[in-house]
Amino acid sequence: METILVLTHVDETGSALTKASLEAVTAGVELARQLSATLTIGILGVDATAAAGAVAATGARLLAVSGEAFAQPRYATDAAGCEALCRAAQASIVLAPGSSRFTRVAAGVAHRLGGFIDTHITALSSNDSVDATRWFYRQRVEATISRDARPWFLLLDAGTHAPFAGESGAAQVEAVAVTLPTVRTTVEGLRSPMRDAQTIRPDARLLFVAGAGWTKKQPDGQIHVAEAGELILAFLRLSGASLGSSKSLADQKAEGEQSVLPFLTHMNQVGQTGSTPRHAKGLSTCCHGEEPHVVGWRFIGERRAISLDPNCGWTRGKADVVYVADAFQVMAKVNALLQARSA
Ligand SMILES: Cc1cc2nc3c(=O)[nH]c(=O)nc-3n(C[C@H](O)[C@H](O)[C@H](O)COP(=O)(O)OP(=O)(O)OC[C@H]3O[C@@H](n4cnc5c(N)ncnc54)[C@H](O)[C@@H]3O)c2cc1C
Repeated sequence: METILVLTHVDETGSALTKASLEAVTAGVELARQLSATLTIGILGVDATAAAGAVAATGARLLAVSGEAFAQPRYATDAAGCEALCRAAQASIVLAPGSSRFTRVAAGVAHRLGGFIDTHITALSSNDSVDATRWFYRQRVEATISRDARPWFLLLDAGTHAPFAGESGAAQVEAVAVTLPTVRTTVEGLRSPMRDAQTIRPDARLLFVAGAGWTKKQPDGQIHVAEAGELILAFLRLSGASLGSSKSLADQKAEGEQSVLPFLTHMNQVGQTGSTPRHAKGLSTCCHGEEPHVVGWRFIGERRAISLDPNCGWTRGKADVVYVADAFQVMAKVNALLQARSA
């Protein structure tokens, strides 16, 4: 008989669970139901007890590791906290969100417990055994893994489960004591890029992809890179979309090593040699829609494209809607509409 522990952590408020943690809770509830297994949820954070109300409706046993030591992510304290939660729960299966906070410590915690870990899990199911699904070879090959070894740690990719949304209520939480190791790392603060500079937004509903066409000669025989940059940044600001790029655009360099569009880096690149982000919708602009690029759109729900070329890859079955139009004109109009709506 399996015992399931879902490890969760709080967000920057210190007292609410992250969206990825709530997704892991959904996965835990579903798996526990399939296996008729007992479910425990472990919460780590400065005020873990306050966060527990959001998962009270699961009916799971709730364990919390709280205190100032867990106000900031840090290997030594987070690993000790997770280890304490795992030992208290005595679980055979440990699910956790593949967040940067837990990705850093999960393998170490699994080792301390004498367990095994698999990462980037996208789905869980159970027949006779527990099966976990993940992708290999840049999302081309999907594998189903099962293991006899226990405890088995599974880090779940974000966006693969709906966040748990039960009614919040008063929760009975068991506080778990942690013996803290000597702490050598002090977190002095956080420095994050300006909103305009932070163009990769995994939680955005929309992925906006810019292609090399933005930097090509336009029907008037001129290039309009500055205008392209302004249109793209204005759209990102007004819509909150995440910015992706084709390889051809990300590869372009102006004088020196700076990108032609200075807010773009290879981190934005989507495709075979780039990323495969998950968003509900995607809008491709000035991009041809070739296979090595479109393979990165595997997890985009609804695809739309704006291209001047009526024969581009998007029109050949790779997009749901294609606007054969000038993206400069379309995006100027879209920005004006968004601006009017936000005014
Ligand atoms: C091994 C390998 C790996 C690769 N990996 C990747 C990858 O990870 N990601 C990736 O993106 N590519 C990758 N590529 C490259 C890929 O094959 C394409 O070359 C690339 O995606 C083309 O980028 P693009 O569509 O932006 O540029 P182009 O092919 O130059 O297309 C530009 C498009 O913009 C349109 N356009 C121009 N002006 C306008 C306008 N005003 N309005 C609307 N449309 C306009 C044009 O009609 C054209 O269709 C890889 C290739 C190889 C061989």
